[in-house]
Amino acid sequence: MINILFVPFLLLMFATDSLASSETVSGIGKYDDNNVFAKILQNKLPAKVVFENEYVLAFEDINPIRPVHVLIIPKGKYRSLVDFSSKATDQEILAIVRAMGKIAKAMGLTKDGFSLMTNSGHHGGQTVAHLHFHLLGGEPVNWEQALRE
Ligand code: AMP
Repeated sequence: MINILFVPFLLLMFATDSLASSETVSGIGKYDDNNVFAKILQNKLPAKVVFENEYVLAFEDINPIRPVHVLIIPKGKYRSLVDFSSKATDQEILAIVRAMGKIAKAMGLTKDGFSLMTNSGHHGGQTVAHLHFHLLGGEPVNWEQALRE
């Protein structure tokens, strides 16, 4: 009797597990409070902050690939752009877009230009599971070359 009841339970667990792992790959699974940017937000790790407001934090990338390489992140717990665009409030979305322009200007990038991008999930090459935008500038951003660096 116990075995018969257990079979559907195990099947359910298996189905839930495979759903969770496919969500992780596409960047929308459960948020991990121990990711490196969560630790920066919790002041458990240092960062060279260039901008901060109620919704957004921006800091220098630890391994810059251009003279200016800033990471712009929402303070809310969002794994990726897919996660953010579907769950963030209008205020959070507005705040990060407004901040992007302000930060590009503050970093002196508006005259010569810049690149702003995000990697999402496994195929996007995302390595930190907290949404972040790379703001790159200070010299031409040649993506073909940057991707090989
Ligand atoms: P991505 O590969 O798009 O997920 O980018 C993650 C970025 O985070 C990389 O450019 C890393 O150099 C950067 N990074 C990792 N750890 C830190 C850290 N502690 N402080 C600043 N940037 C970091």
